[in-house]
Amino acid sequence: MNNKVGIYYAFWEQEWSADYFRYVEKIARLGFDVLEVAAGALPDMPRQARLDLAKAAKAEGIEITYCIGMPAAYDMASPEETTRVRGMEYAKRLLEMIGEMDGKVLGGIIYSCWPKIVDSPLWDKRPWWDRSVECVRQVAKTAQDTGVTYCLEVVNRFEQFLLNTAEEGMRFVDAVGSPNVKLLLDSFHMNIEEDFIGDALRKAEGYIGHFHIGEANRKVPGRGHMPWDEIMDGLRDAHYTGRIVMEPFLKMGGQVGQDIKVWRDLSGGGDEQFMDREAAFALKFIRGKLAERE
Ligand code: MN
Repeated sequence: MNNKVGIYYAFWEQEWSADYFRYVEKIARLGFDVLEVAAGALPDMPRQARLDLAKAAKAEGIEITYCIGMPAAYDMASPEETTRVRGMEYAKRLLEMIGEMDGKVLGGIIYSCWPKIVDSPLWDKRPWWDRSVECVRQVAKTAQDTGVTYCLEVVNRFEQFLLNTAEEGMRFVDAVGSPNVKLLLDSFHMNIEEDFIGDALRKAEGYIGHFHIGEANRKVPGRGHMPWDEIMDGLRDAHYTGRIVMEPFLKMGGQVGQDIKVWRDLSGGGDEQFMDREAAFALKFIRGKLAERE
């Protein structure tokens, strides 16, 4: 398999925005193909800075992918129409910016918000589901116009309630019915919700638009018990040719540490050189798994 392999910039950062130029250079030096960045940082960047970033990445041979867990103010599943409209407008704006930067992938909780746990008992999620499907269907037109694939991230029950399994995600994608709407599956979440990750991936053939990897404790791939051979076999059998982006988090602190719930230092007090070495180790580990599956 020769999928592009990437890493999420927040491995090195404690906030949901950063100097992405620095990470283009860093991950190019480490040998990655893809840098994933937080899409929510785009509207705060001047247009020229966005275009310069896209240009800098292109010059280094790096592809940028984008992800976001929508804030509650943009919840497309909300009972409040104004909130849903705001969410759709925001998503369309992000898609237009990403399209202008020649980006191909926007993934994340882009059908509701993150995290989202309802306080009242939830016995029937259909009203939330229906509102979300309707909104995503409208946003999908912009995804098509901009050439971006809108990848709905299926996440675990502690972070969202709408899409917890690949099977639910597939039903949602079918309900939306757009070629530009697919799933973002993630080994960290699948480890919690799927019976067998490999089987879930095989069944999701044709639906996977983007793929995140990480260990169960969010260390870099290769440092834990995640069934990597099962996962890679599943991706191969599903004929997945898209990007594989690792999303590890080791450090406490900042909004990232708070939102990801990192309550201990999983880096053992490691400095930036340690973090770089861990990223390089994981890249080699995943490339090795891909090479075994030519
Ligand atoms: Mn993820």
